[in-house]
Amino acid sequence: MEQTEKRELLSLAPSELEAWMLSVGEPKYRAAQLFPQLHKGVSPDEVTTLGKSLRQKLAESFSYHLPVVEQKLVSSLDGTVKYLFALADGNCVESVVMRYDHGNTVCISSQVGCRMGCKFCASTIGGRVRDLTPGELLGQVIAAQKDLGERISNIVMMGIGEPLDNYDNVLRFLHLVTCEQGLNIGARHISLSTCGLVDRILQLSQEALAITLSVSLHAPDDETRSAIMPINNRWGVDELLDACRVYFARTGRRISFEYTLIAGKNDSPALAEKLALVLNRHLRTREETMPIHVNLIPVNEVDETGFRRSGKAAVATFAKVLESRGIRATVRRKLGADINAACGQLRRNRQNQT
Ligand code: SAH
Repeated sequence: MEQTEKRELLSLAPSELEAWMLSVGEPKYRAAQLFPQLHKGVSPDEVTTLGKSLRQKLAESFSYHLPVVEQKLVSSLDGTVKYLFALADGNCVESVVMRYDHGNTVCISSQVGCRMGCKFCASTIGGRVRDLTPGELLGQVIAAQKDLGERISNIVMMGIGEPLDNYDNVLRFLHLVTCEQGLNIGARHISLSTCGLVDRILQLSQEALAITLSVSLHAPDDETRSAIMPINNRWGVDELLDACRVYFARTGRRISFEYTLIAGKNDSPALAEKLALVLNRHLRTREETMPIHVNLIPVNEVDETGFRRSGKAAVATFAKVLESRGIRATVRRKLGADINAACGQLRRNRQNQT
């Protein structure tokens, strides 16, 4: 009980830790000694330079929990590591580390579950349980880095949950993880993926953050999109792409689009034509010319959904149509195929067992 009332050390900004130090009669530099250690995964009671009484005071006021590795799967094909992490309250989320030539990328979760209801997605099946705190968002990066013993240089927010549905915590996390005194991961090395919360995309466009925004489009028209993504009933394709145009105009940061190919649902050449048309119409206006890049992802088959992945030929044709209309399209390389539990499936398997 007492635990939950304590503030999380990992959610504090350097200035807040300094203010606390001053409030308990400690010099400011104590914060500078502590903060980098916390972000390396060292618990405050191990930071002996602080002295015993200060460590005691910290323990009385704050909690410090890193996500605990519940399950870890390592791909023998490409070294991809998938973690099922247990949070302090016993809830679990997934994080995945992918190894690229340019460094390690971690894909983190933003919520326990999700309430967006996308029909092809395993993460949303049980709904949303709760938001992750800034410290829990950060904790996934720290815990993965600590477990691997290697630096993580890139972050993608494409795990369980809708990051823009947990806006304030995600924003605080972005400030913490880019902090020079902490992990110091540059905003340009961070991508955030959204199913299309238009109000939040517009809000994010005002934050002056150099992160990359990914939009999960998955269909070029309202009829097709609403059938697989309920959020489209709130904001349709035109409104969403218009928000993308505004985002690009305000930030100068191009947006990448995700398109999950589902056999017989959204993968016809006619829909590829429509997609090219609608993207060009919204994003290549007389005022703005955004370079457009679409990531094509054959859907990961989830037992409960019954959706099938598009065949190789359909994927290739879809990409070719886009390219012929001046839109770069890449078919997402499948990493960790042997440990593949599509996003959210590890957590679901665990839930089904208990
Ligand atoms: N909520 C955010 C981020 C999490 S999902 C979003 O919607 O973008 C990350 C990406 O995986 C999204 O593009 C999502 O649509 C996609 N995705 C979800 N389930 C999938 C599945 N079974 N196969 C392929 N992609 C999937």
